[in-house]
Amino acid sequence: MTANTKKVLLFGGTFDPIHNGHLATAAAACNELAADEVCFMPAATSPFKIGQACAPASHRLAMVQLAIADNPRFTASDLEITFPPPSYTFNTLQRLHATHSNTNILLLIGADQLSKLHAWHNINELLHLADLAILPRPGSPTAPATPAQINPAAWAARPRLWLATPLTPISSTHVRRRVALGLPISGLVPPAVERYIKYYALYQQSA
Ligand code: ATP
Repeated sequence: MTANTKKVLLFGGTFDPIHNGHLATAAAACNELAADEVCFMPAATSPFKIGQACAPASHRLAMVQLAIADNPRFTASDLEITFPPPSYTFNTLQRLHATHSNTNILLLIGADQLSKLHAWHNINELLHLADLAILPRPGSPTAPATPAQINPAAWAARPRLWLATPLTPISSTHVRRRVALGLPISGLVPPAVERYIKYYALYQQSA
């Protein structure tokens, strides 16, 4: 790593839709880690959400683009939605390493993901490809723990950065449920995303 190495936080997710919890915690993480960029990367279909209704990737990406427009350190990538689903973070990191030299890529994840980590595709190899930066999330563990079924050597291979970002009690599920019930979502998503959801009548049927 040189002084010119760019530090990028890769923030993958379904973003169905992107919400103020994603945005606030990503901005705080970017400051805390002095990162150059947070790259929001919507998944084609989350391997954990197959079988669940999900807005089309084009809508989810469009909402991400609207939501990040005012933050110069936020970018959006269509890398995963242009590859056939399911999208695996391991494959994405391999592609990014091949195409982005002189870039330090950290994987930004919510603490709720730790209990699912063992099911991630090639997780033990993935842990050799990127440091994890972990966002605290209401209801999720706040102390470092070794996730079950993870190779301890792989877990020890990379630092895990427990961020001091604010706890933000917002989820996409909550947003979708409110839309389906006809309740307002201002304050939960940026105004442009709220208008987009209304215009395309998204999430009318969400449970
Ligand atoms: P859903 O409610 O549909 O499961 P979600 O709100 O968890 O969605 P995702 O797009 O699945 O949103 O999450 C993408 C990433 O952002 C994941 O790593 C998740 O843990 C993290 N994340 C989502 N919401 C928050 C939040 N409020 N605080 C911290 N991290 C979050």
